[in-house]
Amino acid sequence: MPDRAPAPHLAVVGAGPAGLAAALAAAVRGVRVTLLDAAPQAGGQFHRRPAAALGARRPQALHHAWRTAERLRESLEAHVRAGRVRHLTDHHVWCAEPGPGTEFTVHALYGPEQREPAEVRADALVLATGGYEKVLPFPGWTLPGVVTAGGAQAMLKGTLTVSGRTAVVAGTGPLLLPVAAGLAAAGVTVAALVESADPKALLRRTPVWAAHPAKLAEGAGYAAALLRRRVPVLTRHTVVEAHGTDRLEAVTVAALDAGGRVRPGTGRRIPCATLAVGHGMLPQTDLAETLGCSMDGLAVRVDAEQRTDVPGVWAAGETTGIGGAELSLAEGHIAGRSAAARLHGTRPDPEGWARAARARDRLRAFAAALESVYAPPAHGTEQITDGTLVCRCEEVTAGAVREAVTDLGAGDVRTVKLLTRAGMGWCQGRICAPAVAGLTGCALTPTRRPFARPVPLGVLAGGPDHRDDMSDPTGRESG
Ligand SMILES: Cc1cc2nc3c(=O)[nH]c(=O)nc-3n(C[C@H](O)[C@H](O)[C@H](O)COP(=O)(O)OP(=O)(O)OC[C@H]3O[C@@H](n4cnc5c(N)ncnc54)[C@H](O)[C@@H]3O)c2cc1C
Repeated sequence: MPDRAPAPHLAVVGAGPAGLAAALAAAVRGVRVTLLDAAPQAGGQFHRRPAAALGARRPQALHHAWRTAERLRESLEAHVRAGRVRHLTDHHVWCAEPGPGTEFTVHALYGPEQREPAEVRADALVLATGGYEKVLPFPGWTLPGVVTAGGAQAMLKGTLTVSGRTAVVAGTGPLLLPVAAGLAAAGVTVAALVESADPKALLRRTPVWAAHPAKLAEGAGYAAALLRRRVPVLTRHTVVEAHGTDRLEAVTVAALDAGGRVRPGTGRRIPCATLAVGHGMLPQTDLAETLGCSMDGLAVRVDAEQRTDVPGVWAAGETTGIGGAELSLAEGHIAGRSAAARLHGTRPDPEGWARAARARDRLRAFAAALESVYAPPAHGTEQITDGTLVCRCEEVTAGAVREAVTDLGAGDVRTVKLLTRAGMGWCQGRICAPAVAGLTGCALTPTRRPFARPVPLGVLAGGPDHRDDMSDPTGRESG
């Protein structure tokens, strides 16, 4: 009897809703899957759960899609037990490249200090690296006690801790609602939810809600929870300054006029130990960009099958545009099915995922409606004083950026970076680029970074501890 060819091998980067859905859809269709994620547990940002050692009695209390999270976890565990999926936790992927041959090589770092190199060779890739939060600076934003809204949520869901007994939740976007509700449910006094947009503009769009009754119910649930806990909600308001010496003690919030400027004389001081602040999300696209995938604005461009324009590379979830966990699930499912069919050398049948495709269309339309309503104040950069640090890694102030623009003629983020070092530090501009673009008066464009994570020189040089133990066609580790 001739040897049977090993099943094709798919590497999925990111074990959030999109990556999990892709991995599961491919695995049930006879594909060997390696699922890599930097986190110690699957679930991504939305289904993040506390470590088992913390002994949480009711982890579901902090989730509004617990049943989905459980279903995904149980399916993943079943596929791992059956040897169809290998789940590599704590693996930080820093690069994916084509070759050798028609394969792809995924390079990751693992271990307590993320210094141990690992490689996965696969016939195809699904990139499901999600998004990250956008935070715009304001005087005092570097004080201890000021955290990102998603960071506060991640801390609560992942470690069951809160960073202070009194909090203000501020910025813009639908994420602020679950963050404020979650903190309040955990016993934090939420002194205010400060939203710079006017969500009533969304409520007035009846057709949007008619198509999304579940979203309306979810929003109403959060609103009711905030009302029950007497959390004041200030819309068309913004934080203009955070106060404190060694750590945060209070924030000043002020009303915005119709044009997005702070209305003089409306400032009020709110004492708090924590400010959880976020101004929306940005897609995480480093790996796709290094592979040469085309972009649509700031997101990875995909076709109806979730394929990028690099053959053999699919992308799903928030790396292709911000839209929430349900949309990520639908996109991941389609990507997994399409990849499985094509890896088996067959033509995918879109009829098979018609339900997911309909959900994707509907949820993308809803995401577009949200995006048109939630936006940081149009003139927010006017509030950034010259002394405010914009690039925290390289300690570059707003004044230095303005000087680069007005005195030295810089007209884009890259030139500002060359003149001031803003964006040259550890985070490679992930945090400061939106603010630098705002201060420079240019649009935020994708920044091509060769590596998605900092990499030790020894790993780049392919030192002696470099291991290649993942290309074993049986799917078992060998080294
Ligand atoms: C901090 C944060 C908190 C959030 N909280 C809420 C909330 O409370 N409610 C809500 O409705 N929505 C929330 N969201 C939005 C929601 O999480 C997303 O809509 C949804 O999770 C997107 O799913 P995804 O699979 O596309 O990406 P994600 O869930 O973000 O998953 C991406 C995964 O990729 C991994 N990854 C990324 N880069 C690499 C790499 N280079 N190497 C290895 N692994 C990598 C990450 O560790 C992560 O597990 C939050 C988002 C963030 C960023």
